[in-house]
Amino acid sequence: MKRITDLQGSFELHNGVQMPYFGLGVYQSEDGNEVINAVKTALNHGYRHIDTAAIYYNEEGVGTGIRKSNVDRKDVFLTSKVWNTDQGYDSTLKAFDASLERLGTDYLDLYLVHWPKGELSKETWKALEKLYKEKRVRAIGVSNFLRHHLEDLLTSVEIVPMVNQMEFHPYLVQQDLVDFCNSNGIQYQAWSPLMQGNIFDLDIMKDLTLKYNKTIAQIVLRWDLQKGVVTIPKSSKKERIVANSDLFNFELSEEDVQLLDGLDKGKRFGPDPDNFDF
Ligand code: NAD
Repeated sequence: MKRITDLQGSFELHNGVQMPYFGLGVYQSEDGNEVINAVKTALNHGYRHIDTAAIYYNEEGVGTGIRKSNVDRKDVFLTSKVWNTDQGYDSTLKAFDASLERLGTDYLDLYLVHWPKGELSKETWKALEKLYKEKRVRAIGVSNFLRHHLEDLLTSVEIVPMVNQMEFHPYLVQQDLVDFCNSNGIQYQAWSPLMQGNIFDLDIMKDLTLKYNKTIAQIVLRWDLQKGVVTIPKSSKKERIVANSDLFNFELSEEDVQLLDGLDKGKRFGPDPDNFDF
């Protein structure tokens, strides 16, 4: 098991960069005050990792939130993603510049290919390799790449992706893919770790809250970390942002980790990387 210490702890990527294993997701946090306050609250409370994307249309607010917080830019791990309509070599380079401009920063910590788009993503990847070599981004990775997408991409890369950000929760574990990523040095990262809110309806989670005296969110997010998976739950509410991160004072037993693993039924709450129309 990778070592889990506190809210500022990290997993090491294959290029040596430290990626804080717990962060704030901001999908559907509205640009302006909502996202500014969410980012500021998270950073001031101790989070060191923010996950946005061009398609979330809130990069400006994310940048403002970081600047308004008490944390230096250099101490924040900031991720953004190239949207599908910008994939391709030149268009990705332009999209990267536009993201930096909106975020008001001159580098990213992680830049991801948001969705696999076949051959086009190989061109996108070359652009990410260029940005990485120019030190404009500290790590590069992909998102929503199933094993066959990764295997195809790996045939043509110079730099192996450092991260794969995937839908991941007890109903969608995809352990084979997690294992494949681990064995290739690709850090697995969870999106929709709270099943977009659906986790709160699971009776088994309610039982665990009694056993550990922790909330459902804390238990499932702790499961992510114990499985070596980076996690980025979303909330724009101060109390939830604070409470979700209060999971460094307990440990799930191995049996309970396996109990949650066993809930897997291959169920997605988001789009299927093999069948999406955007
Ligand atoms: P999530 O699983 O984090 O769930 C978020 C929902 O849970 C929100 O409605 C929130 O209000 C609610 N919630 C949060 N904490 C709660 C609590 N303590 N009690 C009750 N409700 C609570 O869903 P998500 O936003 O889809 O995923 C997290 C992040 O992952 C996103 O914000 C985004 O940054 C990233 N993401 C990436 C992709 C991708 O394609 N790469 C896709 C989706 C999301």
